[in-house]
Amino acid sequence: MKAFPEKPTVAVHKFSSCDGCQLAFLNMGADLVTLTQRVEILHFLEAGLDNPNTPVDIAFVEGSLSTADEIERARRVRSASRYVVSIGACATAGGLQALRNLDNSHDQWRDAIYANPQFIETLQHARPIASEIRVDYELWGCPINSRQLLAAINALLFGVPPIDDHDKVCLECKRQQQVCVMVTQDKPCLGPVTRTGCGALCPTFGRDCYGCYGPADNPNTASLSRRFQGLGLLPDAIARRFLMINSGAPAFHDAGLIARSGGNQDD
Ligand code: SF4
Ligand code: SF4
Repeated sequence: MKAFPEKPTVAVHKFSSCDGCQLAFLNMGADLVTLTQRVEILHFLEAGLDNPNTPVDIAFVEGSLSTADEIERARRVRSASRYVVSIGACATAGGLQALRNLDNSHDQWRDAIYANPQFIETLQHARPIASEIRVDYELWGCPINSRQLLAAINALLFGVPPIDDHDKVCLECKRQQQVCVMVTQDKPCLGPVTRTGCGALCPTFGRDCYGCYGPADNPNTASLSRRFQGLGLLPDAIARRFLMINSGAPAFHDAGLIARSGGNQDD
């Protein structure tokens, strides 16, 4: 990586999203004050800074590409930014909006959700940022957290690639000595196939992971689907485990569709 200027410039862009990942910046608290001494934030609408087209060293991008206008805007962000970092499930996998990609159900969702659907101009499919422009790094999660974000920014400022948390959540459970909710409580936990980064948040509170950080490296979704069958889940329930926040991530997408068809990934 090439060295940054003394005070690198940063932009935070929003596409189709709930703003939750941008809150990871605001939730940094005192660290945000320290950060502003090390970088200059030029565009961040949520914090009142409005310069969307200004060139920057690092652009963080939240949200999926859900409208034609967003595709154009993403291209402008790419050409104005030295590094582009996608943040959150919407930006990395299409997010919840990508549920409309399943079965080409865009019109059904739109008509069910909006009181006046005739005014909604959205693309048939919601797509991750990397489907349209080159993305240098991705931070997965729904939402991402401030620790992840700060670690990524620190790495970039030190001139090294951010660490990609692609271990499975189960490993984090072991590190933290959490009692497994699947083994002890028969809960259908997605931890065995989900990337960590959250610190095994849900199992820490006795809940099963629902996969909000997306697929880990080499996820054995076939084996986990069989385990879920063994716990008594019907095909549709197994499919819904995979087809939720990260239904657009190929590993979860494929596992969900196979489960929904009643098939087995080994067939
Ligand atoms: S609770 Fe879930 S994430 Fe933790 S070890 Fe068990 S299966 Fe893995
Ligand atoms: S345990 Fe799973 S669902 Fe819970 S925050 Fe972590 S990745 Fe998301």
